Amino acid sequence: MQRPSPAPSTAIRPSACPGLLRIVASRDGGICRIKLPGGRLDAVAARAIAAAAERHADGVLEATNRANLQIRGVHAGAEAALSAELLDAGLGPRVAAADDVRNLLLSPAAGIDPAMQRDVTPLADTLLALLQDNPRFHTLSAKFAIQLDGGEGLAMLEHPHDLWLSAMDGGHFAFGLAGCPPIHADDQPALAAVATEQVPVLVEALLNLFLDLAGEGQARMRQLLETTPAERLLEQLDVPLQRDASVGNWRRQPVQPFAQLGVCQQRQPGSCSIGAGFVLGRLDSRLLRALADLSECEGDGTLRLTPWQGVLLPNIPNERADAVLAALDDLGLTTSAEQPLSRLIACSGSTGCARGLADTKGDALRLAERLQEPLPAGVHLCGCPRSCAAAHVAPFTLLAVADGRYDLFRPPQRVAGFGQPLARNLSLDAAADRLRDPGVIPDA
Ligand code: SF4
Repeated sequence: MQRPSPAPSTAIRPSACPGLLRIVASRDGGICRIKLPGGRLDAVAARAIAAAAERHADGVLEATNRANLQIRGVHAGAEAALSAELLDAGLGPRVAAADDVRNLLLSPAAGIDPAMQRDVTPLADTLLALLQDNPRFHTLSAKFAIQLDGGEGLAMLEHPHDLWLSAMDGGHFAFGLAGCPPIHADDQPALAAVATEQVPVLVEALLNLFLDLAGEGQARMRQLLETTPAERLLEQLDVPLQRDASVGNWRRQPVQPFAQLGVCQQRQPGSCSIGAGFVLGRLDSRLLRALADLSECEGDGTLRLTPWQGVLLPNIPNERADAVLAALDDLGLTTSAEQPLSRLIACSGSTGCARGLADTKGDALRLAERLQEPLPAGVHLCGCPRSCAAAHVAPFTLLAVADGRYDLFRPPQRVAGFGQPLARNLSLDAAADRLRDPGVIPDA
């Protein structure tokens, strides 16, 4: 891999989003985001990240909801050395200016999931190269994101993407803009489908069209679609499109909730993958090293980060599944949907973010203790209305209004936003009572 030169200020665009070469200040120090291709890293790279996090920060790491890792608390003055160390470990982009554009979400079970229509990992490599090798695409927003879905049983289908592509049976990919693959009859249907070999051509053409047409304030596809109908984009594409009832009526197979936790059989006979969650998305260098060791001892020496702020260990022999699950449990990860913490997410809150009105991570731990039993639905604690921790619509949101006090929201089903407040200015005890009340939360 070509090694980009460290911190070339002309190549790194200003943005509020952290990157590997753009370390953004936060209340607890700098944040360095390491984008992992398809969420994957091997044990050697994991140890390199752990060492860098200890040398240049305080060893605190965070798993993001785009299956990346970030180092928190980067020491002032250590930014360039940290970036250089991570580049040396092969964790950088192909060229420095391409760091931001590497936003391609895959299923953590890509290539191993028994339900998949297609192994999308070779296609993902092609798309990641395309995104990085075209300098024009480096001007896309650091948040502009693409989903490449192989039809796996384990998939994040709730995060809207600027462009999504989903494998149909018969060698085609359905696609759509500014949304998610359709599952329900009333979901926004796919716009069209293309043959698999046309996917890179389609992505290149759509991104160029987006950059041609997007005006001031239109950094994301949903913003462009407010002024330019999707039909107009399709008319200008010089790519053979399939647009018939079979595409319009196509619906993606739904996924099982919490399939990211526990043991899943792989397509490869005799092997399984084991998924676990980092408590509130946080881990430290010691835990990352332990996971690297576990993956080498029991699996193939690789880890896959998940968009549920967790990790998946692939290629574990079936007979070792229970032992690996127990090891992950011993390491303090959540391994079952029955654990209250597996249903709670929280942003950095006031300990890590100047905007935070409450210590959301500490409060989420306290809330889990009070709840004791699993909730039928997920709860998101956020320190302010920016809602950084949830790319999806959370069933319940506790929005901080003051230290230890929250408004409780519940959106109508599948509608974006917080929804209507169910209660205002709750203490944690009162919030726990409301969340346990079956009148507030019917069975999921
Ligand atoms: S939601 Fe608000 S308080 Fe929480 S991390 Fe984002 S900006 Fe900070």
